[in-house]
Amino acid sequence: MELSEAQFERYARHLVLEEIGEEGQEKLLRAKVLVIGAGGLGSPLLLYLAAAGIGTLGIVDDDTVDLSNLQRQIVHPTESVGLAKVESVRRTLHHINPEVAVRLHAERLTEANVAAIIGDYDLVADGSDNFATRYVLNDACYRLKKPLVAAALSPFDGQLSTFKAYLGPPHPCYRCLFREPPPPDSVPRCETAGILGAIAGVMGTLQATEVLKEILGIGESLSGSLLMYDALRAGFHKIALPRDPDCPTCGTKP
Ligand SMILES: [Zn+2]
Repeated sequence: MELSEAQFERYARHLVLEEIGEEGQEKLLRAKVLVIGAGGLGSPLLLYLAAAGIGTLGIVDDDTVDLSNLQRQIVHPTESVGLAKVESVRRTLHHINPEVAVRLHAERLTEANVAAIIGDYDLVADGSDNFATRYVLNDACYRLKKPLVAAALSPFDGQLSTFKAYLGPPHPCYRCLFREPPPPDSVPRCETAGILGAIAGVMGTLQATEVLKEILGIGESLSGSLLMYDALRAGFHKIALPRDPDCPTCGTKP
């Protein structure tokens, strides 16, 4: 792969970095990343990954843009209200970086379709807002050996980690942390609970950073750690996430 003159200019601030350079930029251009959810987390994720030159970006979302989404879902402009979210994303990303191949998956992830959808991607970034999707994705990414960068939001807090349990101990999976989904409707979603919009921006941007680090193979992976952000205290902390030998997904005990 040879970078074009326009690419040398577009990606100049990556190319000048010793940790990225031409070789790293080519890795980004060859990478295929799947983003689950074109919402609060998916918005900054998709914008930064497209701007960074990820060659192929897939988006899974079966929803349409609602006026009440725009307070935090910054990938969608006002004129997209009523459009399918995946189509709105396609239009915005074309403005940001027309070189990116955008693949639309206007459906909900289920046990039945997850393997076919994620199979062709190198990495999955979960910006979904429901537990059913999180568990389906965790188990499928483990089986298919796909790195999973997952974030979650509360009204004033966020959490982020990377899961690569297929590499073996000590890497944990999401089920090592939370074995079973909580009972339905016991945890309110953004739609009903409310959220300070910029929190989604903080967490989605951190998530984009971790995706780029995983593809480039630079720095320390978040696998084995959970990064927590408390907006009201303006603080971050990081805790260790041990692998659970009894985990129903990645456990090694019979
Ligand atoms: Zn596990």
